[in-house]
Amino acid sequence: MDKEILDFFNTDLQYIHGVGPVLASKFNDVLGGRRVLDFLLHAPSYVRPREILDSVTNAQTGDTITISLLIKSHKRGGVFRGRRRPTQIVCADKFAAPVTIQFFNVNYLDYWTEKLPIGQWRIVSGKLDFSHNTGAIINHPEFIETPENAHKIPKHQAIYPSGEGLTQKTFSNVRDQIFNTIHERIATKQFSDRMLEFIDALEHVHYPMSNDDLAPNGTYMAKLAYCELFAHQTAIAINRRARKEQKNQRPIRAKKYDLIDRFYSILPFELTGAQQRTIDEIFADFQKPVPMMRLVQGDVGSGKTMVAMAAAIKMAESGAQSVLLAPTDTLAQQHFAKLAPMCEKLGLVCDVLTGRDKGAQRREKLISLRSGRTKLAIGTHALFSEDVEYKDLGLVIIDEQHRFGVAQRTAMREKGNNPDMLALSATPIPRTLSMTIYGDMDVSIINEKPAGRIPIKTSKISVMRTNALIDRIAPQIENGAKVFWVCPLVEESEISDMTAAQSRFDELKKRFPHTGLCHGQMDKKERDKVMAEFADKNSEMRVLVSTTVIEVGIDVPSATIMVIENAERFGLAALHQLRGRVGRGSLQSYCILLYGNNITPDGLKRLDVLCETEDGFAIAEQDLMMRGVGELLGTKQSGWIQYHFVDYREHRDLFRLASSAARDSEPDTMTRDLMYIFDCGVNVGA
Ligand code: ADP
Ligand code: MG
Repeated sequence: MDKEILDFFNTDLQYIHGVGPVLASKFNDVLGGRRVLDFLLHAPSYVRPREILDSVTNAQTGDTITISLLIKSHKRGGVFRGRRRPTQIVCADKFAAPVTIQFFNVNYLDYWTEKLPIGQWRIVSGKLDFSHNTGAIINHPEFIETPENAHKIPKHQAIYPSGEGLTQKTFSNVRDQIFNTIHERIATKQFSDRMLEFIDALEHVHYPMSNDDLAPNGTYMAKLAYCELFAHQTAIAINRRARKEQKNQRPIRAKKYDLIDRFYSILPFELTGAQQRTIDEIFADFQKPVPMMRLVQGDVGSGKTMVAMAAAIKMAESGAQSVLLAPTDTLAQQHFAKLAPMCEKLGLVCDVLTGRDKGAQRREKLISLRSGRTKLAIGTHALFSEDVEYKDLGLVIIDEQHRFGVAQRTAMREKGNNPDMLALSATPIPRTLSMTIYGDMDVSIINEKPAGRIPIKTSKISVMRTNALIDRIAPQIENGAKVFWVCPLVEESEISDMTAAQSRFDELKKRFPHTGLCHGQMDKKERDKVMAEFADKNSEMRVLVSTTVIEVGIDVPSATIMVIENAERFGLAALHQLRGRVGRGSLQSYCILLYGNNITPDGLKRLDVLCETEDGFAIAEQDLMMRGVGELLGTKQSGWIQYHFVDYREHRDLFRLASSAARDSEPDTMTRDLMYIFDCGVNVGA
């Protein structure tokens, strides 16, 4: 009976009023999915009170205020002698104190003239800033309303962890649309009490009245966390039982060819002990009647791809096929470029299939997959489109595993006869937690870096010394060093993100004319082009300024310097991932963490952890220990992907409760719905 609501949860966000495909894909970047459900599972991180003030005189920089302003005059913005100038609306508050409203990258005034007509009062709400020239400033106010409509400005605003191209206003609009529809359904259809309770908890969390509603142990958050843990633990219990009972046997395939020794002989390097051990564990799994379910955890740069390659080649010895799923087109192409020549030497047909393949080219690739000729297919979710068939799919390898939901994993499994699954993950999970999270999977850990790697030198310096830093790295850049320069996401406004990266780019370009720029507002093709140019050995581009859009796993071995601005705004795991973009070649690499003036002592301590160690597992343990509850980072930035409502530190008791409740019971309908909602249970229903 709850199917109605699950169907709605499953709706693509693009069909929500006012969203459309472009915004939906931006939501996809932030939420890791583009369904209504993905939105609902994305809790706000805190509540911002919007204080109503009469005057700005007692307010401070950084305060979020709501204030009545009288519009006095308009100043057109634009580009003047090569310098960008914002559009300004000059106003006064009730005590005649001047306040300027500013809009960047808006070079026409008409729109604002209409919204902010001279001589009228408006209620304006946004973040306050002060400058020497103009006094109080509000950049890009989030709300502008006529006095009659002042009630439209919320008194408590839920602030969502956001990303590029999404404002808080968009979040709250979408939220309102979603809950309106949910209420319509509830009014006309019957739902179970447990489902209604679950929805009620979701609603309280999305419309919090205070930060207590968002605290991990607040009534509603704890309730959702328990639901999530219970769903996970139930799925794990089911899987464990199914595997023990050996319900789904994998076919035993006869060996037809000798490939693995030839593979070892063409490797340009010695495998590390940890790589070899992991490969042995995988090959042992191949001897068993139960399908393999193995997670390989290895730090960035530990060489997981070669382990996966060895598994695929072993599979090919019996003539069976393997697929390697990458989270993005770029990564799929990169894997293909690297692995195809190796396959060629071994006489194996390797192919790449992504959303880019169309028409005749695509048809040909599909024929080759169906006939069994292609032994290794690398690609994105395009690999399990409905019309893709495999002759004998033996192994599914999932790179950066957290990005693939269970629905996709199931689709992939259904393309073969109980294929083996190998997941690769660079997000280290502290050992203390991996049992509860991956209780149904076997885990191999690659805890050794390839020989000859020179440790990255990591240091932290204040942003005040940015110019000195530039002077210091300039000679290296002239000698050919490549530099990633990462600017952080600013939580609320995509415009300020872009301006941060843009103005850093403008500045560096004066010094290094071939600097590139890459951010989320750029079209994907253009972005790929810039990244490809930066990666190209022969290009002149030495510095790439970007927001965090530079992808996980992107491989530019010649890059040796990583500068991260406002490093204190990133989670430890995210910083560790970013740092892993350098130190991949044979040259000394550097990572410079630039911290802002507002950094806290705890923030400094966190940066010290990075300066001291490169061991991802040690960093993950520290992250777990140090992450304060108040310091709620967006899921994406924190790098802790697995849970939506569960807090590792605060919910240890719930872990235990859920795990014992789930152990032996057969799941009822609501539990199955929860397993679906929380995308868990790899073999649910099988
Ligand atoms: P990750 O674990 O981050 O996916 P990759 O598989 O991309 O790491 O490997 C990083 C780099 O190290 C690649 O260029 C790869 O060819 C190289 N590599 C892998 N194994 C070894 C090894 N045993 N010795 C030297 N280099 C290696
Ligand atoms: Mg990788």
